[in-house]
Amino acid sequence: MINVTKTFLPPQDEYQAILNRAWETGWITNRGVLVKELENKLKKYLNVNHVVAMTNGTLPLQIAIKVLGLKGEIITTPFSYVATTSSIVWEGCKPIFVDIHPEYLTIDETKIEAAITPDTSAILATHVFGNPCHIEAIDAIAKKHHLKVIYDAAHCFGVTYKGQSIFNYGDVSTCSFHATKLFHTGEGGALFTNSKALYDKAYYHHNFGHLGEEAFQGLGINAKMSELQAAMGLAVFPYLNAIIEERKSIFIFYQEAFKMHNISSLSLRPETVWNYGYYPIIFETEEVLLRVKKALNEAQIFPRRYFFPNLGKLNYVKSNMGNIPISQKVSKTILCLPFYSGLGELNIKRIKEIVLSEL
Ligand SMILES: *Cc1c(COP(=O)(O)O)cnc(C)c1O
Repeated sequence: MINVTKTFLPPQDEYQAILNRAWETGWITNRGVLVKELENKLKKYLNVNHVVAMTNGTLPLQIAIKVLGLKGEIITTPFSYVATTSSIVWEGCKPIFVDIHPEYLTIDETKIEAAITPDTSAILATHVFGNPCHIEAIDAIAKKHHLKVIYDAAHCFGVTYKGQSIFNYGDVSTCSFHATKLFHTGEGGALFTNSKALYDKAYYHHNFGHLGEEAFQGLGINAKMSELQAAMGLAVFPYLNAIIEERKSIFIFYQEAFKMHNISSLSLRPETVWNYGYYPIIFETEEVLLRVKKALNEAQIFPRRYFFPNLGKLNYVKSNMGNIPISQKVSKTILCLPFYSGLGELNIKRIKEIVLSEL
């Protein structure tokens, strides 16, 4: 069976060797040596100033909304994973959907201003599939209207934009280290910010609001990453560059295979160094997509409809749906093909042949 992705598992003895360090101290959570080491590695590898490792990639979104003190309406993209929208609702705010760019698939910055009302407090946009939003335009709009900016950068591990880590943009950026993501800790995630003040706030928020053992700085929740998760991340780290290189070669094969046909792929924003995180293809109609998906499924190949259904269809936000025809069309016609290191040449060729045979 071939799925859309396959978790990279490091050699078990290497994971065990790192775990042994937790056994030696007897300390498996509450920010032990492994979490601290992982955070330091992340800072160096990604070139970021402040990072808080967390237990998944959803809590950093919720904590970002909390530490920025957001209220009322948050302008967001309807084309993302559900956690982008659900975090807004979970924090008691109202998501306002703005349509996406038809090729970049990120929020259409030219449509943001029309959605701003006196109740708008922020823009929460997703660099979907690791493709950067139009960061300069969003920054300018945010400054002009005194809005905060959060980037859901769950797909962006290792991505740079204009020579900088993508996590350095916006007031806060978040990433997911879920097992299905490019870099993973099983479950895990992180919050990034350039502001020391926001970092301090996020730090105490993710640890019950603790200020040392016997005092509290304010409200908090438990979003701490455990040592067991950090050990997985540390064991995956040495393989990252090789993983990305192998994905790149699969990407080149797929691009070559599909370029003369009636399907399109992601258009990367200029000045992006991408991480080869996903391989989405967009068909002309949903009928073709369903035909291709069925044929692949019959061959025990399971691509995924990322992201379907469109978030405008969520039953808890329907009334805020807005005018989002492009994202609704994209949700119906986009399919992410299997894309991971270890997929193998034979499988890639088989996928190509099945896709082309159903067009
Ligand atoms: C995976 C993902 C998340 C949530 O991350 P978890 O680590 O699974 O909690 C949030 N946003 C997007 C866009 C994602 O793809």
